[in-house]
Amino acid sequence: MAQQLPVEGIPKAVLLPRKAQPLYGRHPWALHSAFDKIDSSAADGDVVQLVGDHGRFVAYGVVNRKSRINARLYSWNVDEPLTDDFWKRKLAAAIDGRRQLGLFHENAGCRLVYSEADGLSGLIVDYFAGHVVLQVNALAMEKRLDVIVAALNELIAPKSISMRGEAGVQKAEGITIEPQVLQGEVPSEPIFISENGIEFELDLSGGQKTGFYLDQRENRVAAARYFSGRRVLDMFCYSGGFSLAAAKLGGASEVIGIDGSDRAIELARRNAERNGITNARFESVDAFDHLKTLVDAGEKFDAVILDPPKFTKTRRNINEALKAYYHVNRQGVALLNPGGILVTCSCSGNVSRDDFQMTLLGVAQKSGRDIQILEQRSAAIDHPTLITCPETQYLKCFICRVE
Ligand code: SAH
Repeated sequence: MAQQLPVEGIPKAVLLPRKAQPLYGRHPWALHSAFDKIDSSAADGDVVQLVGDHGRFVAYGVVNRKSRINARLYSWNVDEPLTDDFWKRKLAAAIDGRRQLGLFHENAGCRLVYSEADGLSGLIVDYFAGHVVLQVNALAMEKRLDVIVAALNELIAPKSISMRGEAGVQKAEGITIEPQVLQGEVPSEPIFISENGIEFELDLSGGQKTGFYLDQRENRVAAARYFSGRRVLDMFCYSGGFSLAAAKLGGASEVIGIDGSDRAIELARRNAERNGITNARFESVDAFDHLKTLVDAGEKFDAVILDPPKFTKTRRNINEALKAYYHVNRQGVALLNPGGILVTCSCSGNVSRDDFQMTLLGVAQKSGRDIQILEQRSAAIDHPTLITCPETQYLKCFICRVE
């Protein structure tokens, strides 16, 4: 791209020598350590233009001195400043993308906006059969909530818009997001979405994440393919995503779903009933304890699904997280009959695909079982990986055959 010069009238954030390169490379996070100085006329939450070596324009961003990410970048084109219209165009592009993928329809559950991957660092927009749930994870987005809500109304006219934040992220950004309904009403009666021909009841008020694990949509179908006539154990089943796909799409002979949350297990039971599934049962119990109990009792399954919660949120704890993955997978493998299928997932963004695979290598070696990787998968297509921001890829899902 031709070199661009800054414009008048927008505060500048000047980068230290040689710090501009990765940001020209379109990574959206400018860390504190990259800056020489930021104009004091720009308050946290305001737009700044980043200036690199020789006074060149790099990008428009939004400053937040409270965060380690001192500026989040949204536009690398000096002629595309961060106006209200800019945000609306970004949202429209993200939503159009889902429409083109055929994911956005009335009864669907679908991630309309996936933060950095859609050029909207710090904003997640999930759609559940007409209702929208926002996750606001950056000051830049919190300051622009009015614009975002107005644009969503114009673009898709949702029945309701509610908002949540993640505690750890809020602290890092110095913001406070009270979970709340911003517009319309979240009905007190259940909401249902249809996924892969299966109906799921959602718990939008008290549910986890934004109410449903949309990122596993395609992995549920992929896994189901291996389950015909098999006895399946679904560990960390939440509302039964993998279990119901196993029973209904995969023709599993029997499915046992385990989760530590009573609420999740109640949902899973209702979901099974609603879809006419009679060979799945669900139990609310600690998964780590239960794995041990099953192994000690010599139980065997033809397929085991492991989809635990994030084991680490920071890079510092990677080793402990890897140990936890090792432990859980070691037990999962011990429960498998020869020729069994292991579906094993990691949603810890800080654990790389290679590290996760190395963990499985350790499991194969220590248990003396051959593990063949049949499929290496990631998140569903409405959670894309932005090539310039590899952090957008967090979910690993390996489907393996274990001898
Ligand atoms: N497989 C699910 C998503 C799993 S998310 C799906 O397809 O929808 C991780 C799940 O782990 C959550 O439902 C959470 O309640 C559960 N969980 C967390 N800690 C647990 C524990 N110690 N024992 C059992 N379940 C646990």
